[in-house]
Amino acid sequence: MPIRVLPPPVAAAIAAGEVVERPASVVKELVENALDAGGRSVRVEVERGGLDLIRVTDDGCGIAEDELEAACQRHATSKLASADDLSRLTTLGFRGEALPSIIAAADVQIASRTQGAGRGAAVRFRDGKVVERLAYGGAHGTSVTVRNLFARQPARLKFLRSAASEAAQIVGAIHPYALAYPEVRFSLSMDGRRVLETTGSGELRDAATRVLGVEVAGQLLDITEPPERRQDGVRVRGLISPPALTRANRSSITVLVNRRWVQPRRLTFAVEQAYATLLMTGRHPLGVIAIDLPPADVDVNVHPTKADVRFKDERAVFGAVTHAVRQTLTGFSPIPEFDSGVLAAGRPPGAMTEAAAIESLNGVTLLGGPQPSQSPLWQTLLRPQEHEAHAPVAAPPQDSPRIPLLRVVGQTGGTYVVAEGPTGMYLIDQHAAHERVLYERLRARHAAAQRDVQGLLAPAPVELTPQQAAVLAEFEPLLVAHGFAFEPFGDSTVLLRSAPAELAGADAGRAFSALLDALAEDRGTDRDERLLKTLACHGSVRAGKTLSLEEMRELVLLLEECAAPRTCPHGRPTMIHLSAAALEREFRRR
Ligand code: ADP
Ligand code: MG
Repeated sequence: MPIRVLPPPVAAAIAAGEVVERPASVVKELVENALDAGGRSVRVEVERGGLDLIRVTDDGCGIAEDELEAACQRHATSKLASADDLSRLTTLGFRGEALPSIIAAADVQIASRTQGAGRGAAVRFRDGKVVERLAYGGAHGTSVTVRNLFARQPARLKFLRSAASEAAQIVGAIHPYALAYPEVRFSLSMDGRRVLETTGSGELRDAATRVLGVEVAGQLLDITEPPERRQDGVRVRGLISPPALTRANRSSITVLVNRRWVQPRRLTFAVEQAYATLLMTGRHPLGVIAIDLPPADVDVNVHPTKADVRFKDERAVFGAVTHAVRQTLTGFSPIPEFDSGVLAAGRPPGAMTEAAAIESLNGVTLLGGPQPSQSPLWQTLLRPQEHEAHAPVAAPPQDSPRIPLLRVVGQTGGTYVVAEGPTGMYLIDQHAAHERVLYERLRARHAAAQRDVQGLLAPAPVELTPQQAAVLAEFEPLLVAHGFAFEPFGDSTVLLRSAPAELAGADAGRAFSALLDALAEDRGTDRDERLLKTLACHGSVRAGKTLSLEEMRELVLLLEECAAPRTCPHGRPTMIHLSAAALEREFRRR
């Protein structure tokens, strides 16, 4: 094909695609404009996941009647006059691309009235062109209405997911701004239902309470940093979760740089580093990290949707963040010291029981049963085997999927089952093993379209974040198919009445909430699978729980029957093996 310069409408449509990818990107751009205009109240209305309607109304400075159409041209902005201004930028917008991109993708009406103006004006666009000019009798501020998004771009439309899923993305796009601008009153209604409303009190914790729910926000820790700016001009504020409060979702940390919402993966990683070993694998902290620094020290113009920034001195910024998070966590939970006083004074929350502590000091507890030497069967089987000489402590070889018949000897650390098999000793991670058992059972049951439901003794109220509520709406049939029964219970709470039998214990509510988080994650993997794994994880016995000999025998029997008993559903080993040969060698018997 010969090279040619694209006609302006084609070029505009291509550029618009970068900015307006889905309904949530429209909402994000319009909310940014409302905030840049100094709005103290930002109202967002959405219908059918934004496909039918998106309307954002603010009470900001407004657009003068004679500038309304100019504002909608490409690269038209009031926020920047020269390239130099980029380094002094304090507004969220600066590219002058949002309005023209939205106009290229939908039917749009922009209505506005400036402060003090006697009347306002409105302009309607269709196919990128002005089709009508009207008077606007609304209060001062701006209201942008977007209808039939992508109606004339079937390729885009096909690419979108369900309305409920797009709605969840919109909720996810509003949250960061509600957290970044606690002094602004945000309201979001979807299909006529109010799903978020912040108070505009100016307190981050108030905004977090509305966004994350009372229960979660109440547990978050204030990031403790000296109030004065650090030498390098970087200040870190925010709220973060204590180690015990986690999410399955890596993206639960909202990062704000000079009140701009960004998603820098590496920075989130730095935050997790600060938690170091305090978190269980696969679990992630949540919270809000607000970084303030001089505008000249950060380049905001590195991404078409402004989703990332570049720091002039990245190490200083990361350092400040890790330091602040660590400081906050250490202040919260000093490293516990083991002394006799701990046992005498009662144990701190999360500590081992006295019995478990003694057991773990002894290493292995013997819980009776025939000793190996008394059993002729074990004696013959215990004879060292040649091929094991090279693998002293290792996960059992993967070529045979089955595990040998095991005899439970005891439990150590309240976490590992000690067992003996034909070729030595096995340590079984009780949680991982149980996870495997439940996972296979749940999967088989689900495949056969069977259910094993149990009513909860006490129905559990589960407070939902708006995102969880959206996920719940989308996945209701699947959750019901798995045996959950729930009903609305106030504005943002559901009452859980029954759960799959494995989960119907005291933790059912928490498991349900974690399940919704797992489903909200969009990692392209099979959601059914994710749901099964989360169910299995929450239904299984925790590490640190003392088990009776009977319970351990039962667990091992069930594990032996599994199709893939050697790993948990997340791929971690369920057991390690200390071969008889290795034992002999370690004790210098050979
Ligand atoms: P940018 O935000 O990058 O400047 P936009 O296309 O989003 O580009 O907006 C273009 C211009 O329209 C803005 O610079 C601003 O002057 C004006 N504008 C847009 N939305 C609003 C609003 N809600 N209130 C006041 N002015 C607005
Ligand atoms: Mg803008």
